[in-house]
Amino acid sequence: MQKNFTVAIDGPSGAGKSTIARRLAAHFGGVYVDTGALYRAAAVYIKNSGVSPENEGEISRIFSESPPEIDLRQGPDGQNVFLNGSDVTREIRLPEISTLTSKIAQSPAVRAFLLDAQRQSATSAPFAVLDGRDIGTVVLPGATVKIFLTASAEARAERRTAELLAQGVSVRYEDILSDNIARDTRDAVRTTAAPGAYIVDTSALSFDESFDKILSEVLRVREKA
Ligand code: C5P
Repeated sequence: MQKNFTVAIDGPSGAGKSTIARRLAAHFGGVYVDTGALYRAAAVYIKNSGVSPENEGEISRIFSESPPEIDLRQGPDGQNVFLNGSDVTREIRLPEISTLTSKIAQSPAVRAFLLDAQRQSATSAPFAVLDGRDIGTVVLPGATVKIFLTASAEARAERRTAELLAQGVSVRYEDILSDNIARDTRDAVRTTAAPGAYIVDTSALSFDESFDKILSEVLRVREKA
């Protein structure tokens, strides 16, 4: 395998990116980097600092004067997210944080702050899978494989509702659907397929079917490399 084989998986929230990315990384013994979790931790930091998500000047100031320490650590039950040493793994998944995250993700200061962290994590292992919105277009335009994973808003909301309920977070499908639509609108400018990306619509596919398609694409590229 070539040095630093990187897979960029982009697409809207709830399309199945994180589950596929995690399994793909495990399949090749590589690392999975959940870039959405980094943005979510940045949102918790802004919230804790009492700064308005619209106040770019203040956001820029706190990120340069006292930049947060955000770590993704592999725990026994999956990836844990730490913000300045505190475990925020559950908090970052709360619907209010999802909404806040898509607002603060528009901040150039936040995006610039997280760019290096994302690029560094991509080189931390010989095989790395990053999922997000702009991985193939901005973070890793030279990624070995670029995937764009999408699904209808309804299919995505159904999956996210089931995922949150399984985590013990009480939510309603209707709320998730309307939150998703609002979030999609804010994220739309960034959520575009990179040129040459392999596009998979998972609306009518099972998890295994989606995974097999993506695995075949990765193996196809790997054979050529
Ligand atoms: O993927 P996830 O839903 O956890 O991402 C949360 C939010 O973080 C997204 O709605 C988006 O606004 C932002 N994000 C981003 N760029 C990324 C990853 C996430 O703007 N690479």
